[in-house]
Amino acid sequence: MENQLQIYNTLSRKKEVFEPLHPGKAGLYVCGPTVYSKAHLGHARPAVTYDLLFRYLKHIGYKVRYVRNITDVGHLVNDADEGEDKIAKRARLEELEPMEIVQIYTNDYHKNMQQLNVLPPSIEPRATGHIIEQIETVEKILAAGYAYESNGSVYFDVEKYAKDYPYGELSGRKIEDLQANTRQLDGQDEKRSSLDFAIWKKAAPEHIMRWPSKWGDGFPGWHVECTAMSCKYLGETFDIHGGGMDLTFPHHEAEIAQAKAANGHDAVRYWMHNNMVTLNGQKMGKSLGNAISLDDFFEGNHPLLEKAYKPMTIRFFMLMAHYRSTLDFSNEALQAAEKGMERLLKAVETLDKLESSATSTVQVAELKSKCYQAMNDDLNSPIAIAHLFDGVKMINSLADGKASISADDLKELKTLYSTFLFDLFGLQQPEQQDNANTEAYEHAIDLLLQLRQEAKANKDWGTADKIRDELSKLGFVVKDTKDGSSWELK
Ligand code: ZN
Repeated sequence: MENQLQIYNTLSRKKEVFEPLHPGKAGLYVCGPTVYSKAHLGHARPAVTYDLLFRYLKHIGYKVRYVRNITDVGHLVNDADEGEDKIAKRARLEELEPMEIVQIYTNDYHKNMQQLNVLPPSIEPRATGHIIEQIETVEKILAAGYAYESNGSVYFDVEKYAKDYPYGELSGRKIEDLQANTRQLDGQDEKRSSLDFAIWKKAAPEHIMRWPSKWGDGFPGWHVECTAMSCKYLGETFDIHGGGMDLTFPHHEAEIAQAKAANGHDAVRYWMHNNMVTLNGQKMGKSLGNAISLDDFFEGNHPLLEKAYKPMTIRFFMLMAHYRSTLDFSNEALQAAEKGMERLLKAVETLDKLESSATSTVQVAELKSKCYQAMNDDLNSPIAIAHLFDGVKMINSLADGKASISADDLKELKTLYSTFLFDLFGLQQPEQQDNANTEAYEHAIDLLLQLRQEAKANKDWGTADKIRDELSKLGFVVKDTKDGSSWELK
């Protein structure tokens, strides 16, 4: 393969050349959202990061199976296997069925992803649709001796596991430190150690989300769903597992332990983690109360927002930072992204109008190679964008007649910009975003004027004047013409 992609593997802590398990194919699993609230900027970051990876892998010739799950059970309010299920809690507060909450926020998430032009994954499994597979995973871990049943729940035995395998290798935590920093159990506890985590949890009588099992009615632990579903759709060993950096511990550490305990070997070959979105240096998150929803961004509906930002601005803002760097939100940064994106999109329009000459005085092949080098270097989108900005200077000098370009180079340059901006970065020209809205709005005004014509024909002057006056108050100028009327916005 011509393009050799290097990925920073969080587990080995270095960049590694991506070599797939099966030639020409790539398996990708990404932890999706827990669907109990509106998606915020922090949700957009992994979505855009792994969308870029998905698009790039396909572009360089891989057949990709991209699995991104929906967590709709088992994610408790508290990571220490206590507290309510996040979805059940929301359902109780809103007086809805848990599955209504799941549907509302799954639909909402899909709407936001479409607005951001994030491609749908190949498979989007739900945890509640894979209870049988999760129970099977729990049984395998029990059979291997790395879990124990206690009062209807099943816990992963971290200390037993740590004797045979390194625990904490992904997050860099040491078991001795973890032991020193956790609370002492009081003897009444179901767990042998507070490091142990539930892989199956007994459901209290009032718990709505419950399934029968040999251990009694209960529900799966959050970590076990990703192990069960990635194994089902990508196999016991697969290429890439991605997610937010905040998931490395305990979630991904638990996934590694569960897979090794169940199968005796690692499941994941490359671990990738995107960094966080911060607000004044602090992580943005629902639980921290500083999350701004994507809908708020698109509508400009938040005290911290100076204006509304289009989904493409948010997308480009994310791509302007490397996925492993933090991304600090500010109005200035978003407005800079907006301007930068406009400059690139304008260059595409200029490019379309350029005429070729007999010879080239510009270096298109070099520009192209730099852009691909950046992407091959652990998806370095900000560097690729910087090269494309350099290319804008080239395009402008061609438009000014200060440089010349051959027909072949011109074709190559057009392909480069459309490939990077639209196919890989997933940007859309403003008219693509706005067309649908504009059309609906123009039809609505035309319809009002048609009603006014009908009123005039019926000599209903009151209605006819009312329509014109109300439109005028909204800033429309209505002109009567010999064929009816026309309008424009002042
Ligand atoms: Zn997960």
